[in-house]
Amino acid sequence: MSTASWLLRAQSQLGNLMQATTAPILVHGHQPKGLYELVTQHLAGELCESVSAVKPCLQCPGCHMRLAGNHPDLRHLMPQAVALELGFNVEVKSGVKPSQDIRIDDVRDLQNYFNTASSRGASRYVVVYPFDQMNANTANALLKTLEEPANGLRFVLVGSRIDKLLPTIRSRCQELTMPMPGIVECLKWLEGQGVAQPEIALGVAMNDPFEALSLAQQAADQLDLRKKFLDWLANPDQHANPPAGLEKVGLPVVLELAMRLCSDCVAQAHGLKGNNFPWLQPKLMWVKSVGVNRFSTLYQNLQKEFRLANHPINPRLALEYVGQQWQTLTR
Ligand SMILES: [Zn+2]
Repeated sequence: MSTASWLLRAQSQLGNLMQATTAPILVHGHQPKGLYELVTQHLAGELCESVSAVKPCLQCPGCHMRLAGNHPDLRHLMPQAVALELGFNVEVKSGVKPSQDIRIDDVRDLQNYFNTASSRGASRYVVVYPFDQMNANTANALLKTLEEPANGLRFVLVGSRIDKLLPTIRSRCQELTMPMPGIVECLKWLEGQGVAQPEIALGVAMNDPFEALSLAQQAADQLDLRKKFLDWLANPDQHANPPAGLEKVGLPVVLELAMRLCSDCVAQAHGLKGNNFPWLQPKLMWVKSVGVNRFSTLYQNLQKEFRLANHPINPRLALEYVGQQWQTLTR
């Protein structure tokens, strides 16, 4: 189990809610990876068949099947890319990219499971993660089952972008909103996990501690590119060329980093401390002479771009646009 103290605190909340209702549970907050871990851990306890107080016991048949990934009362609805990242066995046709969304076919594949009675305990579980990577068609296909789940069928939806969920789905669910842990608590935890520059990792992961850990442990090149991009924006003398390879970071992330730095610049122009990337503050001395208004305009432009960022017509062009916007600041 995660050593994150704030998740341990949240675990009893989740347990209480699942006991109080059979409605689908919607767990959301600004740290989806951690929330997924929380839900996984809770269900591990539910599926454990040991009579002892310590669950999961990791010894009983229920635990064995769950650990082997073939417990008959547990299914996941995930984009293939996420499932692969989490180490699930996924069949992806050769030459085809793993799906980035939960597909309508994924829902159809579970129809039998939705309708069969539980094979071991009283309940069967479906974890939908992340619910924000589900398009309207998929969500509609799922809605019917969510509205009238077969006896014992329990849904847990996990994710961060509640605004991306169909209102009809949201209204069926009991919500559990997870508050953000404090920055100091996150930094301490990351340090304990052996992350070398916890402040930078947390900053470039938009303050999601689990994302920060995963970047530091599994995607150091991503972490480095994000950091380089921010350094580049913070130094107006270099504004001519965005760092090479930046496309790999993905446009939504690039734009969010730029918007967050923009807010830091506004704070700095007001003589305050920006709280997104505190380590960049010494490099932002030039910001004062630019003035707040131009940063506000820039922020709005980035925000407009962000709304379209998931389907850019030309990612490189969009990146250059961000660059140009910053370049004009110091002219
Ligand atoms: Zn067990």
